[in-house]
Amino acid sequence: MIIHLKNTITAEKAEALAAQHQAAIYKKEDYFVLIQSSKIKTLADTLADHAEAYFVLDTDIQLSSRDYLQTTREVQLGKVTIGGNTNHSVVITGPCSVESEKQIRQSAQLCNQLGVKILRAGSFKPRTSPYTFQGMGIEGLKLLAKISEEYGLKIITEVRDASHVDQVIEYADIIQIGAKAMYDHGILKKCGKTNKPVLLKRGFGSTLQEFVQCAEFVISGGNEQVVLCERGIRTFETKTRFTLDLCGVAFLKEHVNLPVILDPSHAMGYAYGVPDLTRACLAMGVDGLLIETHPNPKVAKSDAAQQLNHEEFSNLYNSLTPIASAIGRKIV
Ligand code: PEP
Ligand code: MN
Repeated sequence: MIIHLKNTITAEKAEALAAQHQAAIYKKEDYFVLIQSSKIKTLADTLADHAEAYFVLDTDIQLSSRDYLQTTREVQLGKVTIGGNTNHSVVITGPCSVESEKQIRQSAQLCNQLGVKILRAGSFKPRTSPYTFQGMGIEGLKLLAKISEEYGLKIITEVRDASHVDQVIEYADIIQIGAKAMYDHGILKKCGKTNKPVLLKRGFGSTLQEFVQCAEFVISGGNEQVVLCERGIRTFETKTRFTLDLCGVAFLKEHVNLPVILDPSHAMGYAYGVPDLTRACLAMGVDGLLIETHPNPKVAKSDAAQQLNHEEFSNLYNSLTPIASAIGRKIV
């Protein structure tokens, strides 16, 4: 149950009510919001006098449910809006990892040439093997900050664990929580206390319910700027890296009020499939697309097989506008 307290309730009183009713609490504009388990279906007598409104939800997809808020939430990044009723799909690109100044500069140039406004690259990489490239760490974050300033781009970069979440928050415009970190409550809770937007990727072994509940940790901490990213789940199939769950995307669009973006690169795992898959994703009318690109994918230090080279990406990018217009959308 979600309870909007009256705006006359002080912070002290709201905190006391939250503790008494085992509720999460955050401040929204000039009032406090309490969230109790969705198992609770009736408003407690001790809350009745303090509540302005309350909402009974079926499951613990609560703040992100369309039964609570019908419209898609909006994430604002400078001049770029993700979600809301914009009717556009935001294209995001960049290499899997920041590897050098030269490489990230080339990626930024590609964005500028095509009009892509958000550059994405990881600097703290959650790798499958401890013996592979783990990312440039803080040096990579500094490079991203420098390049974003020079080229006027917004930056998405990944937080691998709670130990450096403050550093990432400082440098990123959007904090990416990767598939392997989706369940890291240290990260989720810290992200709930920042005002930076969060891109939450679906864990490849997680149900939609589990995925959206992780987003609820961030929103119920007070940060409502969460974007969901479907990036493929593990199935019995081994010919592709993962299986992109487009049924899941249809579910999210119908039932969840958070913007949804799709990452065909990690789902497919091989560059040859990424352009077709991107076009299929776009046709679903999603809020954004995340595609990995590298100036020279053959020498990429992570995810080499799936990254498009800049020519391949430019061709793909130029094929997107007609698909977007066929469904009444624009590419941003
Ligand atoms: C990435 O975005 O480079 C990445 C590691 O993705 P995921 O968390 O989806 O595996
Ligand atoms: Mn990657």
